Formats: sequence, C-alpha cells, structure tokens
Amino acid sequence: MSSSAQHAAAGPAEYLVEVALPVPLERTFSYRFVMADLEPDRVPAAGDLVSVPFGRRRKVLGLVLGAREWEAGQAKLDGFDLRRVTSLLPTEYRITGERLALARWLAEYYMLPLGEVVPLFHPPSPGTRARGKEAQEAFPTGDTPDITLTRHQEAAVAAAGRHLQEGSFGALLLHGVTGSGKTEVYLAVIEQALAAGKGAIFLLPEIALTPQMLARITGRFGDKAAAIHSGLSAGQRCRVHEAAARGEVQVVVGPRSALFAPVRDLGVIVVDEEHESSYKQDEKPRYHARHAALVRGRENRAVVILGSATPDLESMDNARQGRYQLLILPERMGGGLPVVEIVDMRGSRALEGFSPALAQAVEETLAQQRQVILFYNRRGFARMLQCRQCGEVVECPACDIGLTYHLRPRRLLCHYCDHQAEVPETCPACGAGDFLPQGGGTEKVEVNLQAHFPEARIQRLDRDTTSGRGSHRRILAAFARREADILVGTQMVAKGHHFPGVGLVGVLAADHGLGLPDFRAAERTFQLLTQVAGRSGRTGHGRVIFQTFRPDDPVIVAASMHDYQGFMDQELPLRRALGYPPSRRLLRVGLSGRRKGTVEQAALALAGAFQQNLDPEQVQVLGPAPAVFPRLNDRFRYQILLKGALGAPARRWLVQVLAQLKEEYRGVDVIHDVDPVGVY
Ligand code: ADP
Ligand code: ZN
Repeated sequence: MSSSAQHAAAGPAEYLVEVALPVPLERTFSYRFVMADLEPDRVPAAGDLVSVPFGRRRKVLGLVLGAREWEAGQAKLDGFDLRRVTSLLPTEYRITGERLALARWLAEYYMLPLGEVVPLFHPPSPGTRARGKEAQEAFPTGDTPDITLTRHQEAAVAAAGRHLQEGSFGALLLHGVTGSGKTEVYLAVIEQALAAGKGAIFLLPEIALTPQMLARITGRFGDKAAAIHSGLSAGQRCRVHEAAARGEVQVVVGPRSALFAPVRDLGVIVVDEEHESSYKQDEKPRYHARHAALVRGRENRAVVILGSATPDLESMDNARQGRYQLLILPERMGGGLPVVEIVDMRGSRALEGFSPALAQAVEETLAQQRQVILFYNRRGFARMLQCRQCGEVVECPACDIGLTYHLRPRRLLCHYCDHQAEVPETCPACGAGDFLPQGGGTEKVEVNLQAHFPEARIQRLDRDTTSGRGSHRRILAAFARREADILVGTQMVAKGHHFPGVGLVGVLAADHGLGLPDFRAAERTFQLLTQVAGRSGRTGHGRVIFQTFRPDDPVIVAASMHDYQGFMDQELPLRRALGYPPSRRLLRVGLSGRRKGTVEQAALALAGAFQQNLDPEQVQVLGPAPAVFPRLNDRFRYQILLKGALGAPARRWLVQVLAQLKEEYRGVDVIHDVDPVGVY
C-alpha cells in the first residue's frame, strides 16, 4: 500500500460528492463516496472523474465539482436515497485548471450543461489498458529534409517565438498559398516550444486523409509526439492520454478531439487547414475546435497558429480587424502556382462529362509520365434513376430525395440515411421498364476514363472505396509511390496532399457547390477549387482545368487566378449586406420529428416566443421554415435562425425555453447550434 493510500485510509470513511453528468439537464447530482467500496489511493476532489450509476442500469462518467466529508452509513440526502460512486479514475483523467476553464467556457458559450462537454476531455473508455504489445501505429518516418527557412517562414516563426518567450497569448493567422511551406513553420515553432520545455497540440482536419502529415510530425519529434484519433483502439487512446498527462508525450496530433488532450505546459496550438468545416462538431456537444483552440491558448498564454491557403472569411476578417496577427507566405516552394484554364461546358458536346480539352490534357500529362487527379464531388454512378416514360425519379422512402445509382455493387443508395434498395425492374409510378441514369458520380468518371485510357492505372478515392480500415492510407500511399496514374475522387482528393508527380488536376464540374442554398456556398466552392488546384505542379509546371457551365462566375474566376483577396473583397460586402457572419452571429435551432404537423406547431410556437421576447434591435428571427432538406431519415425538419449576438440573460432564457419546448412537444427533437457552419 502506498503512503497516500495509508493516509487516505486514516481519513474519513465517506464523502458526499457533487458531480456534473453528461445528461441534458441543468443540474448537478450527489453521490456517496464510500472509501471502503473502492479502496482508492486518495480522497476524491474537484476535477476528478468518477463512474456512477445513473437511471436503471446505466453507468456514466461524472466530473466531481466538490467533495465533503460525510457521515458514514448516512444513505439519504434531503429524504432521497443516495447512490454510491462505482469507481474513481486515475489522476491522469482529472480535469482541472486550464482544461476545467475551457470546459466551463464551452458549456457557457455553446449553451450546454457542463456535464455534456466533459466527454470531450477523456477517451471513450478511460482507464482501458492497451493490449500486450499493441503499440502506437507505426508511421513511415518522414525524412527530415535539410532545409533553410525562407525569409517569410523565418518571420512567421519569429512572430510565434516572441509569444513563446514572453509567455503571452497570441493568435496568428498564417496565410500561405498551397505548398508555401506552412508545415515547416509549424514544425519549427513546435521545436522552439519543446526547447523551452513546453508542449504542443497539432490539429488536422481529417486524420485518415493526412497520413503524410502524421509521418512528417512524428518523424520530426519521435517519441515525444503521438497521434490520438478514433482509428486507435480504446487502449491506445488511453495510453496516449495518460502519457500526455504525465508529460511523457509533449506533442499531441489529431483531429478536433485532440484539442482536449491533457498536454502539460501548453506552448503552442496549431490548427492546420483552419478553414475546414470538419473542425465543427455536428453532433452533441456542438462546438468549433478553432474557436475552442483560441480559448485554450488564451488560458495557457500560448500561441495559436491558424494556417490555411484559403482562410475562413471570419478568420481573415478577424485578422483585418487586428484581432489576429496576419503572416503571409506568398510564394510556393520550388516554383509557381499551376496555371488554371476554364473550359466552358455550355452547349458542348462533351463526351460523358469530359471536354475534348480535358481529355487531351490527360493524354498529354500521361505521355509525360506525370500523374493526374480528377475531382468530381459526388460518389456513385448516377445521381438518380429517372423513368424514361413518366419522368418519375426513384426516391428514398425515408428522405424524399432521389436515390443514387451505384454500379459495384449494383444498388440504389440514399446518401443521407444510407437506405439501400435494389434497382427496380419497373417504374414504381407507371410500370414502364426503362430508366435513364441522370447525373454523374465518381464511379461513372472512373468507368468512362478507363474506356478512354485503357492503359492507365486508375484509382478511386471516395467513401465507397475507403470504408475498410486503413484504406485511405493504402490508396494515398499507392498514388504517392506512383503505382497509379490517375486518382479520381470526391473532395477527399482536395485535402492537403503533397504528390510531387501530379502535373494535372481536372475539376469536372466546378460550379457544383455554387447552387446550394447556403450563405457559405460561394466560400466553400472557392476554397475547394483553390485547394484541389493546389495539388497540381508541386514540382515542375502544373496545369489545372475547371470545367464549368458558369465560366463567368466571379467565384470560379477568382479561384482560377488563385485570387484570395479578390474573392474576399467581393464576398465580404455581400455577407455584410445580408447580415451573415462575419458581420453578425448566427444561431440555428433545428426541430425534427415524425409528425409534420407537430413539428411545425412546435416551430411556430418557438419562433413566436423568440419574436416576443428577444430585442429586435439585437436579434433578428428568421423562420420557422422547412429545412433545405425538409425530410430526412423519416423525420420532418424545420429551422429557425437567429441573427445577432445574444447577451448572457438572453442565452439563459433561451436554454429554458428550449427545455420547456422539449417537455411540451415530446415527439419533437430540438437542437441548437451556435455559430453553425452551414444552414441546411
Ligand atoms: P504547405 O504546408 O504550405 O502546403 P509544405 O510545408 O508541405 O507546404 O511545403 C511544401 C514543400 O516544400 C515540402 O516538400 C517541403 O519540404 C518543402 N519546403 C518547405 N519549406 C522549404 C524551404 N524553406 N526550403 C526548401 N523546401 C521547403
Ligand atoms: Zn434516405
């Protein structure tokens, strides 16, 4: 028995602990902590995690807010039975200090009970032992090239270094065109932090799509760095968490969830590709990791580096307002940016979606022994099946949306609820037996391409080819080793990949995202086009072709010229005029349920309450209106948008109103989303 255990054994035999639980209730819960039950090596204290019984047979993890000595054997509090704590988690799982402050900020800002944000701060099953020899996944070590930082890179590193030296909070926006050496800046800053005895967190938007990046980071920092993500076993995740808490791992890399790792003496947080919407968690607890990173940075007096070739408009606006320090890497390493050609598809006799110009460019590129990336933002073979006789489209029974036609395996698939159906023999509406596959998909692109270029080795990267474990990595690695000539895919191909062999990027439908009824549609399209174009010509001359039916659209023109400033200057005034972010805040309330009438009633009641109680000078109420997808997964969907900033009293009021509404309309699901990244 350790000395602390003896000490504990000599102390009081019981404690009453007050805990926050991950349940949607604005209250805390009391439990009895009976030392003899648990034989813990310490007494419980604020910040500890405990496992407690909840409801009939659930066990949940709670955050201890306070503990006081309790009369042994006293099993009631205010007449209610007290239940007993089941276990006390090791000290590595405590949430104290700056992490507790971050948890409190999340709860307050996103209007959630504290207990509901606590699960962000620990791995799914804390305390799980990693099995035997199961180690961190081995990454191929990136060869650290012997490079001398450029003047611009040096300036960025120095700006971060000043904050590290002073121990002051800093928010830096690193705007560097694709391939301009942003990653080298991040790594150099982390090196400085380590030299000063400080730790680092490095956030990446999608870990599965960025194996190269992981290899570079872990290659540079060896055992001091570890990745933490959902692809690891529970035991592995716990091992990294615990090692970080003990200071054995000083650099934690991962997707948004890695932000909450218990890294000690945090000196720097990197948010790479900061514009990516995957930093926003779209399920409870809804939060934005970029925003949370800034808060954690402030709590630690650390430096936060937001990096992107296409910064989020809100980030750039913050930089322009002087809230972030803007650092620019204007040039691509080892050459210029690729040349983009716009191909007008109007009235064209393009063969199955390929213009002659694109087909020729593919041919030329392959002849030069260089690689090609083709981007089409929809998977499957055809967007829908339409009856040639009556025009009826085969729809998902649960979503009122056309089912996508997939060839291998042959089936119809709903991309919203994953409903699968056999391809019908005859039209459900008129009985005719003749369907027309309408609209394309990556599968079709692949098939057509193979017919065109029978010799070419083609690989496809989309959700259908990457469902297996490690499949992203296998495809990307094979393409990097040049075992394939052409990579066809959805937006997965646009992520930060660095493939030196690519000489051509083709975008089959550049206007694809522009028609979406979302205020960020233009921004998302600009980002996506710029990012995918940036995969071409990493070494040597690069070409890009945008096929489009809207060749004059200012978004497409700006992207073709790599003109971020130009895009920003046209888009910001529009956002201002319409009162969308960054000029005003947004809060989205989504209501859904199986009975349309009830959902609509609840939505009307709620909007009415908003209209009556919120100051119209401060907050504008939009809706209720059916959501862009009015029925998904057999649920009818409505939404209300609030434009403007809610003060603390209005927020508290809103939480109560939503709780009341949930009581009143039992069959209606109500969610609220602070700073939504999309309104659908
Ligand atoms: P980004 O993160 O902006 O896309 P990277 O950091 O991946 O850019 O850099 C692109 C390429 O340029 C990489 O191969 C990297 O090793 C190389 N590179 C970066 N900085 C330098 C430098 N100062 N000198 C030489 N090569 C560099
Ligand atoms: Zn569906």
